[in-house]
Amino acid sequence: MKLSTRSKPYIIPEYSLTGDLLSFLTCNLQYRYQNKGTLPPSMPVQLWFGEFIHGVLEEAFLRWDLNKTSFPWDWKEDIRPIENMIDLKLQVRGLYPPQNHFFTTNIPGREDMEVTEADHKKLASARAEAAINIWGPHLFPLIDSTEELIKGIRDMPNYKENISRSNYYGINGVVDVITLFKKDELKKTEQFSLDYFKENEIKNYLRENKEFNENLQKLDANEYEIIIDYKGMKRPSINDNTWNHHKWQILTYSWLKHKQEDSKPILCGIIFYLNELVPSYEDLRAIKQDILKNENDVKISDEDLEVLMNWDENDEENYPELSDKFKKDRSIRIITVDDDELDNALEEFDKVVGDIEESLIKETNGCKIKDAWKAEADERTCNACDFKTFCNNNKIKEFKVP
Ligand code: SF4
Repeated sequence: MKLSTRSKPYIIPEYSLTGDLLSFLTCNLQYRYQNKGTLPPSMPVQLWFGEFIHGVLEEAFLRWDLNKTSFPWDWKEDIRPIENMIDLKLQVRGLYPPQNHFFTTNIPGREDMEVTEADHKKLASARAEAAINIWGPHLFPLIDSTEELIKGIRDMPNYKENISRSNYYGINGVVDVITLFKKDELKKTEQFSLDYFKENEIKNYLRENKEFNENLQKLDANEYEIIIDYKGMKRPSINDNTWNHHKWQILTYSWLKHKQEDSKPILCGIIFYLNELVPSYEDLRAIKQDILKNENDVKISDEDLEVLMNWDENDEENYPELSDKFKKDRSIRIITVDDDELDNALEEFDKVVGDIEESLIKETNGCKIKDAWKAEADERTCNACDFKTFCNNNKIKEFKVP
């Protein structure tokens, strides 16, 4: 009697937009070690802050929704308990706050510690406070849903029978915030011009955006949605690859959202670059460089320009104080959804999946990890990378061994 053999399981590989595709684009080899090898980074400043600020804003919105506490929120009374809760949640996942960014009381012996407010409020706390008090009053009332998981399926790029893992791949993402607007909600009226400064600032930014208004004119539905994403980082310079990657992310989210049931048209996405509200010394240096190299897309006033250009970048004690308007302008980026650009974004991400699959297949067939995955990243990424000690990337400068 001939025994039948069980057929191979049919598995569709699943890719997360931020966890896989954007990580892979940052550095292929680092992605392999961190994501596929599940090795968490030892000094995850950006990873920690990204998770922290997302958690804080999500929780702040839930509390605002429940209690409608008016703004500005008191840091010690209203915000610090949220920070503590999120810090604890992250520690359970093995993500510990970087000492010089956040004062944690969630370690043995510190629970009841009496410390002054100044001791507590380090950079991450200052940014959390600014994000809640600057954008919260305008953003929270617009929120329709948060942390929405969206999924889709696409043809596997470069599919080869018996070689490729599947003929499709799954793509997913978690949208931080979805807001719902009525078509006429942003119309300018007599009343509007009188109340301009009392108006919702996010709506004002939308009103002033030419491409968004063109999309709004063409809309033939009564309602539309806007996708919102928080980033715990500085606004990228316009020549940086990250600038385009973030655009592709928003466009792909809009494609995925569009595929969900009951979805409304998506006119644009908004990214909040939250470091811009309280820039660090490194951020300020990078902003100055962006302006000097003409890679800044945000209009800067003569006063801000003077303050920044007169600042000695080697002076770590005296920071230039930029205006609130400039900081806000830099922290908000509107990305309008354009069909051609959307197709291009999807193709770009298809290529990325094709590259990941190619590296995976090479490795499965016996190729060494360092030969199967490309080691290429910018200097800032390499300097913070745990794998620089054995990475073959020759650009890496000297590193210290403790
Ligand atoms: S050192 Fe740089 S090139 Fe090498 S793995 Fe890390 S990020 Fe990639």
